[in-house]
Formats: sequence, C-alpha cells, structure tokens
Amino acid sequence: MALSGLQIFKLLAKTNCKECGFPTCMAFAMQLAAGKAELDKCPYVSDEAKAALGEASAPPVRKVTIGAGDLAVTVGEETVMYRHEKRFENMPGIGVLITDEMEEAAVASLIGQLKEQQFNYVGRTLRPRVAAVKASDGATLAALAAKVDTGSGAALVLMHEDAGALKTAAGALKGKKPLLYAASEENFDAVAAVARELDVPFAIKASSLDKLAELGQKALDGDFKEVVLDPASSSLGDVLLDQTIIRRAAIKKTFRALGFPTIGFPCQMTDDRMLEAVYAAVFVAKYAGIVILSDLEPARTLPLLYLGQNIYTDPQKPMQMEEGVYPVNEPGPEAPILVTTNFSLTYFTVSSEVEASKVPAWLCIMDVEGQSVLTAWAAGKFVADAIAPFLKKSGIEEKAPHKKVVIPGYVAQISGELEEELGEGWQVQVGVREAADIPKFLRQWTAA
Ligand code: SF4
Repeated sequence: MALSGLQIFKLLAKTNCKECGFPTCMAFAMQLAAGKAELDKCPYVSDEAKAALGEASAPPVRKVTIGAGDLAVTVGEETVMYRHEKRFENMPGIGVLITDEMEEAAVASLIGQLKEQQFNYVGRTLRPRVAAVKASDGATLAALAAKVDTGSGAALVLMHEDAGALKTAAGALKGKKPLLYAASEENFDAVAAVARELDVPFAIKASSLDKLAELGQKALDGDFKEVVLDPASSSLGDVLLDQTIIRRAAIKKTFRALGFPTIGFPCQMTDDRMLEAVYAAVFVAKYAGIVILSDLEPARTLPLLYLGQNIYTDPQKPMQMEEGVYPVNEPGPEAPILVTTNFSLTYFTVSSEVEASKVPAWLCIMDVEGQSVLTAWAAGKFVADAIAPFLKKSGIEEKAPHKKVVIPGYVAQISGELEEELGEGWQVQVGVREAADIPKFLRQWTAA
C-alpha cells in the first residue's frame, strides 16, 4: 500500500537541511509519494524508515528485467508522463515473434538477425534484443526456446496459455530469466505459481483495463514485483488510449495495480507490414516496455530503434563524445588537424564528411559538455584560452608536429587570439561553416 506524503514525512529526519535538493522534508516527502524523487537523495533516512518506505519509494512503474547477459532487457522504472519533465529511463526492447509454425529456414534467419543485426547511431549500438517464442505444447516450446537462446542470446518471452507448458520451457532455461506470457483471469494462479517457483517475471493479459487492474492487484497482493501488463489493445486508438491510461494511473495516481511496464504485439494487429511498423512506432512513443514485431526487416527495425533512442535519451544531458584525438583515414604526421566540440552530432557529421573525403586527418574533439560549436563559443567554453590548453595537452603535437590547426568557420573570430594563445610556430586556419563543404576544403588544403 502506497504511503501518503504526510505518512512519509513522519518517517523523515525533519531537519529541513535541503541536502536532498528540496527546500523542506515535507516537499521531499510529497515528491517521494508522487514517485518523482528517490529515497536515497536523503542521506538521513534510518534503516527502519527505509524498510517502511520501501514500497512508497519504488518507482511508480516498476523495474522489470528479462533475459540475462548482453541482451538482457530492463524496462519500466519510469517516473514521468513526458520526457521533458525529467527523462524516460529504459528504452523499449524491440523483438520478434518466432513460432513452431514457421519454416525451419525462417526461424534460422530470425535467429541470425537477432544475433547479428545492430546499428551504430551517435556512438551507441542499437539492436533488437527480444524473441517472443510460441509453440503448440510445452516440449516444442522448450526446444524452440532453447534453440533461440543458444543461437541468439536474446531475452525470451515464452508464450503459452498453459502454465505447465510455460514451466517446462522456462525450467529448461536456467538463469535466463524468460518472461512467462501470459497470466489471465483463467490461469492466473497457476502461472503466478510457476513464476514464483522459477523466480522469473510474468505477464498479465486481460480484455479490459479494469480486469487488468484486478489482476495487477492480485500480483501485488502476492508480493510479485516483476510483472508486465498486456492490455490486449486491438486498434491504433486502443493502443494510444490503453497505454496512456495505464501510464497516467501509475504516474499521476500512484495506482500500483497498473504500475508495471507493458508489452505490445503489433505483429498480431495487422498483416500489413508497414501498418505494423506504424503501430510499433506508437507503442515505442507511448510508453510500451517491449514491442514484438513479425520480422526484423532492417527498414522497419532501424527507424524504430532510432525513434526509441531519440525519445529515451536524457534531454538534460547533450549526447557527447569523449574528449580526445580521433584519427580518420589513417593519418600521418602531415595530416591536417581539425578541432571541434564533443557534441555527438557535430562529431559524427564532421567525421563522416572527413571519412568521405578520403583525406587522412586528425580530429581533435574538445570537451565542452556536449554543446555544439556556436553554443559552446557563446557560453565561453569553445574560446581561444580554452582551446589552446586543450590542444597542448591533447598530444597532437607528437602525432602531427606541423602545428597547423583548422577551426570551424563559425568561430572565425577567434583565429587571431587562438594563434596568440598557442604561441610561436602555430598557425590557425579558418575552416568551413557547413560540414558538407569539408571534403572540398580538405582536398584544397592538402593540395596547397
Ligand atoms: S535531506 Fe532529508 S532531512 Fe534534509 S531536507 Fe531532505 S528530506 Fe529533510
């Protein structure tokens, strides 16, 4: 049972020391009750109070981990309705449905894609990580799940209505933490018993949100923490409505019975693959934790993964590269030196243009807390008396002793000052403003 702000307040130190980032203990307690603050932000909570506050301090959408190893998927742990309020925590796991009705070659192909398919996007590797495995009986489900597990290592969703079949398949996957799908009104107790015995998460499926909440409450009463909800939405409108109501109930009302991540099956909603991708995009944009597709065609998985990545990055933290000297096209000591900021998009745009130019070059990437060139310049971070010490410390002089450095065209005004700061022998050249002009610039620079 969730505690009210006042009940939580009574368990706090009541010194109003502000160390938690809130002006008073009462303000902290209210935020904690709303699921918008974390208990460990207050260093003065006693062990006794921690135990009492355990439930109240749990995130309004519980954290659930499915699978093990590199492809394990953690979902939930969300605390806000909208990304700009703080951030979304765990990007949905994108997966594919594999059934015993598929040809062997099709199964092998999907397993291969789960193993191999990955995309690099602004320094991060994005990939499908989930396989929902469905078969007619326990033995077949166990064999198919084992095959998918061995071949891909993907996080598994085991699909069967019979708890015995789920037990057979999950029991053979020791330590792999598959998600049992699904407990319904008819089989709740049996599936929950298997989940408890094997210590694995399970999904709840119901035909209405009221029934879903009833079963969610039953899971809470049984002290189950790792539960996933399937509202079985059958149309695009229902997806939007169901996912939004579940999230609102969890976040705005701290309604614990619906305070679990969700799973969606766009693969079962239409035979039109493009429409399926649209449904999947809505699931990704509107709160789903796991999204199951009918194939892993890169033309569909890539945009979905990018969409998830864009929504689930922290809006308060610009995506950034590590400061350092990056070689492009195997540069030697005569290669040009280009300096820019560590905003990921800047880095990837500049480095891909340099790469396309086929001109070897050194990219000196300076840490300006992930800001773009002009923003960092305006903030006084990408200026002469900061760039000069960075270049000196970067070790670029040992790699390319010619001491000629190219700065972005947008900060042409700092060229003279930077030359002075760098000292004798250094030459600063103003580069281009637009990344697309880099290849032409570099070819002219090397020809000169
Ligand atoms: S850190 Fe703890 S004691 Fe201090 S104001 Fe916050 S809640 Fe109160």
